Amino acid sequence: MAAPASASPQVPEDAFALRAAQPLSVLGSLGKSLIADLQSAGFLTLGDLWFHFPLRFEDRTEVHAIGALRPGLAAQFSGTVEHAEISFRRRRMLLVAVADGTGRIVLRFFHFKQAQAEQMKTGTRLLVYGEPRAGNYSLEVVHPKYRILGAEETIAVEGTMRPVYPKAEGIGHVRLQRAIERALELLPEGADGPLATSLPSDWPRLSEAVRKLHKPRDRAEVEAIASGPHPARQRLAFEELLAHHLSMRLVRARVRSERSPVLRSSGRLRQRLLADLPFALTAAQQRVLAEIDADLARSAPMLRLLQGDVGSGKTIVSALAALAAIESGMQAAVMAPTELLAEQHRRSFERWFAPLGLSGVWLSSRVKGKAREAALTAIAEGAPWAVGTHALMQDSVQFQALGLAIIDEQHRFGVDQRLALAQKGRVGELRPHQLVMTATPIPRTLAMTRFADLDVSVIDQMPPGRKPIQTVAVNRLRRDEVTQRIADACAAGRQAYWVCTLIEESDEVEAEAAEKTAADLTAVLPHLRVGLVHGRLKAGDRAAVMQAFAAGDIDLLVATTVIEVGVDVPKASLMIIENPERLGLAQLHQLRGRVGRGSLESSCVLLYQPPLSETARQRLAVLRDSTDGFVIAERDLELRGPGEVLGTRQTGEALFKVADLQRDAGLLDSARQLADTLLGRDVAAAEQLVRRWVGAAARYAKA
Ligand code: ADP
Ligand code: MG
Repeated sequence: MAAPASASPQVPEDAFALRAAQPLSVLGSLGKSLIADLQSAGFLTLGDLWFHFPLRFEDRTEVHAIGALRPGLAAQFSGTVEHAEISFRRRRMLLVAVADGTGRIVLRFFHFKQAQAEQMKTGTRLLVYGEPRAGNYSLEVVHPKYRILGAEETIAVEGTMRPVYPKAEGIGHVRLQRAIERALELLPEGADGPLATSLPSDWPRLSEAVRKLHKPRDRAEVEAIASGPHPARQRLAFEELLAHHLSMRLVRARVRSERSPVLRSSGRLRQRLLADLPFALTAAQQRVLAEIDADLARSAPMLRLLQGDVGSGKTIVSALAALAAIESGMQAAVMAPTELLAEQHRRSFERWFAPLGLSGVWLSSRVKGKAREAALTAIAEGAPWAVGTHALMQDSVQFQALGLAIIDEQHRFGVDQRLALAQKGRVGELRPHQLVMTATPIPRTLAMTRFADLDVSVIDQMPPGRKPIQTVAVNRLRRDEVTQRIADACAAGRQAYWVCTLIEESDEVEAEAAEKTAADLTAVLPHLRVGLVHGRLKAGDRAAVMQAFAAGDIDLLVATTVIEVGVDVPKASLMIIENPERLGLAQLHQLRGRVGRGSLESSCVLLYQPPLSETARQRLAVLRDSTDGFVIAERDLELRGPGEVLGTRQTGEALFKVADLQRDAGLLDSARQLADTLLGRDVAAAEQLVRRWVGAAARYAKA
């Protein structure tokens, strides 16, 4: 689709942006109350309405013969009321039989007003839109949309598909649709954004692309837009990806223009720690540490993402980095998203640092009273290291001189939180360096949009001696075989995990389910020592159970997914995951990483509940066939989408309005190239794009 030659009068380059920024008052004809409602729903400008894209479409471009309707295919049709009645069978409902000479269909309303029922006199003509389904005697439609037609009225079909918008707080759909319709009339013809000259010439202009996404011509065009190749969608998806990438890059540029302390390890403490370790660093760990060291030795803030599969040994690398800060007379802080993960870091740091005479501080929301006072004082007085949860970011926490902020499991923290910890550790003009660690490998496509502000180091090698984990998927019906397997393993002096999965339920429900499983397993395996951990246990109790398991005093540990980030027990060589179909691949991979930590042959049994959907089957197969976290993450992204991989779906945070990382992966490289050009040439234009698509510009300005 070629951009129209500019027969329209010359429009200044930024006419689109100018118009987009106009307040809703220019839509005066909508009426004060609708405008006020739009404003309270967060629509402040014309652009806000333009960029509120439809979820789906109704096809009102045709009127179908009733005889041609098919179950499951929403359609518009018209007909004459043959019969209407209020039925009281089971519950009160209005039933209206409508026919058009080719067939007959029943409209069924559970919620209706008396006046509505009275309108449905025999012979009344209706125009109806809805999704037919097979009823008892004929097709029927539950709660269709309809309109009564005048006796002589000819039906005017609509020229374009009718958009259905995502809900806006406090505004009915019809009103929202009317407002957007009016706003679209004000799209400036021919105007284009700052990108016009940088885009393929067969992509439509911005106004045209926006209009097309709201008003595609017909079903075929909707299909083309949804599946990707449509130039209007590509144009907008490209802009959106570019804007997200730019927003990260702008954060980065801002942060990098600041100064950080120069941290150089004298090697004094590091050498002692390395000498004490029961292992030597892998080549990958050494390389990554050198990358970090080079960053720390500069006065520009480090912004580095440390990726490495579960068990690749990121913790020791972060500890060695912390020593560079400590040897330079500054502090290092480690922040983890869960208490359990934080506790594990604390244990590692204590084990490694106590012999060096470095005592640290532990802080979580459970540290209260005197202990908390003591922790805060120690941090303020310069304790060399602190480990904790986001309690470390509270206002009362003041570091004396934070040189390095280490953040684990980063994608559970947003950019905001990541920046907040760095902000908090600021000492005068200096901001701490940042090292971000993630155990879930992040597919390249995601990293580019989500972590473009970070440099990336990858530990792409496992410590020697690890045996690959054998993974099998087993039907629940064969649970007995599985318990036998546990009995055999434990008889051979090994240990096992049994993981109960229950998501989107409360901690209590989850804890109860785990308790029941533990009781059942104790009954069938009476000679085993069975332990139980779940999120409802007190931190101390949980730690005690974990410790008992690590010490070999428990044979079988029944757990909820809390152990995802829990202990490291070399003799645990068998893991059973119940209902693995409920979890994401990345999470399953993480869980599985808890076994195979020692030199034993390890295995993981995915005990699934039949029947499995096709996707679930594929996902379990991925896990069975691969132990490479990056491969698994890529597949997870394909099968479930970025919201799941990043763990943002539950919070309802949609990453993109138009773009889709799968469908639009092909646009990413050119988006990145254009970002480079734009940042070099026209930062104002870059900022404008960020405002348009990412919003919350203020947030980035503050970073
Ligand atoms: P992750 O990258 O998942 O955070 P950890 O840092 O917890 O992995 O390391 C997993 C285990 O491997 C720990 O017990 C750690 O002490 C051990 N480890 C780390 N590096 C090495 C190495 N080079 N050789 C042998 N074991 C190592
Ligand atoms: Mg780790």
